[in-house]
Amino acid sequence: LIFNNYNIGEEIIRAITAMNYVSPTEVQRKVIPIALDKKDLVVSSQTGSGKTAAFGIPICEMVEWEENKPQCLILTPTRELAAQIKEDITNIGRFKRIKAAAIYGKQSFAKQKLELKQKTHVVVGTPGRVLDHIEKGTLVVEKLKFLIIDEADEMLNMGFIDQVESIIQKLPTERVTSVFSATMPEDIKHLCHTYMKNPVEISV
Ligand code: AMP
Repeated sequence: LIFNNYNIGEEIIRAITAMNYVSPTEVQRKVIPIALDKKDLVVSSQTGSGKTAAFGIPICEMVEWEENKPQCLILTPTRELAAQIKEDITNIGRFKRIKAAAIYGKQSFAKQKLELKQKTHVVVGTPGRVLDHIEKGTLVVEKLKFLIIDEADEMLNMGFIDQVESIIQKLPTERVTSVFSATMPEDIKHLCHTYMKNPVEISV
């Protein structure tokens, strides 16, 4: 199986080919068609399975270049992961000129504020700092259509789940939500049940 089988534009295909992705991994085969269909998703999968591209490829395909305000928010538990995902999104969206920004704690708020003033399609960040930017109005969420919660169980372990919930409550309800988690503790199931619309469940 190859990536050309999906409804993905030439610019994205060219980028993933340049990244030496020849065929989709299992999680990518299962997730990409459903994500492109704009359905809510709950995915149980491990790091190393190719899950970043599983959500990154459809997101880069679906965001509209012309829109200046952020269209996708990706929440992650750590700075390292936020930086990595930003890099992956930038690579996948290279030929479509997709702009991603990473915002996390222990880095200058003012610098991030300036970055968020530029055209940004995808914002990747840790919950505390993302909430801070939303509350101060430096992260505008009115055009947000896609929310991805990555490593949800880790966010729970690190005590970020209340912040995640506060963020969700500030986002437009007309959106597509995907949750990725290695394990599915009750609190995560509850969060999914409360804030998602009939999510498709995928286990890899
Ligand atoms: P992840 O699970 O997202 O952390 O990805 C694990 C590693 O697999 C990363 O180094 C990716 O660049 C790589 N990768 C993801 N998808 C593919 C693919 N379809 N073909 C080859 N490598 C991939």
